[in-house]
Amino acid sequence: MRGFRSALSRAAARTRAELQGTPRRRLSHSAATPVRPSFGIAFDIDGVILRGRSPIGGSPQAIQRLYADDGTLKIPFLFLTNGGGVPEYKRALELSELLGVNISPSQVVHGHSPYRELVKRFEDDPIVAVGKGEPAAVMAEYGFRKVLSIDDYSSYFREIDPLAPFKKWNVGQSDCKNLMSEKMHPPYDVYSERVKGVFVVSDPVDWGRDLQVLCDILSTGGLPGNGKGDQPPLYFAADDLEYQAAFPSERLGMGAFRIALESIFNQVNDLPLKYTSYGKPNPFVFKNAANILEKLAMGIYPKSQSTKEVKDHQFSTIYMIGDNPKVDICGVLKAGPPWSSILTRTGVFRGTDNDLKFPADLVVDTVEDAISCILEKECIR
Ligand SMILES: [Mg+2]
Repeated sequence: MRGFRSALSRAAARTRAELQGTPRRRLSHSAATPVRPSFGIAFDIDGVILRGRSPIGGSPQAIQRLYADDGTLKIPFLFLTNGGGVPEYKRALELSELLGVNISPSQVVHGHSPYRELVKRFEDDPIVAVGKGEPAAVMAEYGFRKVLSIDDYSSYFREIDPLAPFKKWNVGQSDCKNLMSEKMHPPYDVYSERVKGVFVVSDPVDWGRDLQVLCDILSTGGLPGNGKGDQPPLYFAADDLEYQAAFPSERLGMGAFRIALESIFNQVNDLPLKYTSYGKPNPFVFKNAANILEKLAMGIYPKSQSTKEVKDHQFSTIYMIGDNPKVDICGVLKAGPPWSSILTRTGVFRGTDNDLKFPADLVVDTVEDAISCILEKECIR
């Protein structure tokens, strides 16, 4: 590992001038290079690639190095983020625009992407989707047929949020009458059909209203205002306590909301809250990402042999580039080989050395440095 690190350190010091001015690349499955690389890369987004909507750490230049001169994808990579709130195809379009490459929807793995696997179980059940962006559209895209966002769901229950009249923004409750008349064909009857599942898709927006309405749904067996009942299943797309957004210091994430909901629910109910959390650092997420990378590599190099002797075409190394030791690096430590971690200093982590609790295999300043290190170590020009 010491030799590996010194090679990576040398690569980190390479000039960045050659990386400037790279033309826009496109994703293609034509085999421009017949030799398949034995490694793949997973990028965290917030604090590594972007801060807010702004690229950071030379991320456009770093990503563009993963494409051949003719614009074909050379190195299998994907984005592995606990964020989300929009369908993967929309996020792929946004990243394509910001980074100057064509990102495929299959290269975007959100915290909520594993919800796809639950479609069979809840396909025709009434469910509620929570969070910023388009949580109901995300779930409908996956195949859930009877889904309402918590905004829409709450709007059907007059006075469910007693604080709504004091809110300066439009949360639905204040224009309940209009919404009721506009929504002639909701996907289910909220007054008679019990909610069978609650999915927190992305960071909740109106915490006060959402905590109240979720306690109502979860305490009553899915029918607010109708006495106690068995708790329907509850899922969180991630469990990040904090994350790096545009503000200089970290912001409270979905994990903080989960703690708030769990604390309150457990105070007002006899039985403790039951829930399932996805997202990094759950090893399941890394296994799923490895499978997606393998499919991506097979698509790029359908007939090629690996550059190294790698059993069953599996990767010898998959690099995770992240900014959050508790999430990205802890996840790699749990997942084990072939995962290898690289920690950047552009987000949550700002230390000079390494994280003490979850040490990364390598610490660099930026994602651009990380890519230089990887390509040098893997002998890719
Ligand atoms: Mg991050």
